[in-house]
Amino acid sequence: DELAELLRSHVREVPDFPEPGVLFRDITPLLADGPAFAALVDGLAERYRGTIDAVAGLESRGFILAAPLAHALGVGMITVRKAGRLPGPVLGVDYSLEYGTARLELRSETVAEGSRVLIIDDVLATGGTAAAAIDLIERSGGTVAGLAMLIELVALEGRSKITGYPLESILRY
Ligand code: 5GP
Repeated sequence: DELAELLRSHVREVPDFPEPGVLFRDITPLLADGPAFAALVDGLAERYRGTIDAVAGLESRGFILAAPLAHALGVGMITVRKAGRLPGPVLGVDYSLEYGTARLELRSETVAEGSRVLIIDDVLATGGTAAAAIDLIERSGGTVAGLAMLIELVALEGRSKITGYPLESILRY
């Protein structure tokens, strides 16, 4: 559709970043373009208005999308962070990356019991990050109402790691 084409025109493809063989989708041109960034946030707000109680952003690029969306919807923002960034007590989850492991943490007090949480990030790749975030939100007493990704890298099959949850992506590559 029109929104997707506008957004797609502002995503830059960077070969061999951050390592050889990886084709990185760089969203910095999109964020730097006022009309495109506004259209993205407005589109998400229209889609989710009235259906969620909080937006959970995944560090770091997920924060950039989650904060304006939470503001537009008048709901709170939950920060799901990399290891060691949040003062305790925190819940944590270790998950595997293509090479090695990573850890996400969340202050469970920031998730209201039974609240409907929308998880948001810039890119769904293998799905490991999104699956870890689902685990943290649920262990904190929240309900994952959905996941919204600006970009879905379809060939990496991340969607198969998060079956049973409504997942929407705007751009698919
Ligand atoms: P996953 O856990 O799904 O393999 O990786 C998703 C995470 O890696 C997201 O938080 C996302 O920000 C980052 N990521 C992976 N590939 C790309 C990419 O091509 N472009 C951007 N902007 N982020 C990526």
